[in-house]
Amino acid sequence: MTDVIACAPQPRIPVRGGGMFPVRRIYCVGRNFAEHAREMGAPAPASKADRGQPVFFLKPADAIVIDGVVPYPPGTTDLHHEVELVVALGKDAAPGLVDPDGADALIFGYGIGLDLTRRDLQAAAKAKGLPWDTGKAFDHSAPVSELVRASDVGDLASRALSLKVNGETRQRAALSDLIWDVPDILHALSKLYALRAGDLVFMGTPAGVGALQVGDAFVASLDGIVELRGEIHAAHHAV
Ligand code: MN
Repeated sequence: MTDVIACAPQPRIPVRGGGMFPVRRIYCVGRNFAEHAREMGAPAPASKADRGQPVFFLKPADAIVIDGVVPYPPGTTDLHHEVELVVALGKDAAPGLVDPDGADALIFGYGIGLDLTRRDLQAAAKAKGLPWDTGKAFDHSAPVSELVRASDVGDLASRALSLKVNGETRQRAALSDLIWDVPDILHALSKLYALRAGDLVFMGTPAGVGALQVGDAFVASLDGIVELRGEIHAAHHAV
């Protein structure tokens, strides 16, 4: 059957070496670095045994930005950066739970991204016990680098992620400091959702989140692997 309306195509991310990765869903993990949990006023687990369940939220697939051009979003005066490892799934999970020991087989590759956050709206929602969607799931809220195939990345735990804004380092942490590592997160997500090829997972941010202003230039890095360069542009809409 023919489509009855004109509609934007599925968002796609370039892959190093060629080709495009079609995006299905964007899952995000909250509070996955202890120091960031503390800076947000949340308790941080003292050990893996105390960590409970991870916090998840979603962004729409078309929140992806692949050219680094981010318009300052409407409805906020406190846009925050959160630099995060991005995991891209290349296969559908089998029915049932994803075994952490077999989770790597689902992974197509990795990138670096920003979980941009309207912190004022998120804080207001948290204070009232309301959902975070307006704070997190807005247009252009997920700038992401090209993706690098997992076979070209090797061991991730020894890597660091970082964010510079106007040349100054704002965030930096080792991936070995994740409270829930990638296999842990894919296992936990599989208790709640059927994971599919095309899904992205934003793995959570380390300490040092802060405000971005129009004109700010950012460089997000997964050290030695991939970089994302971009800039905050003037708003598209009057606010
Ligand atoms: Mn985040």
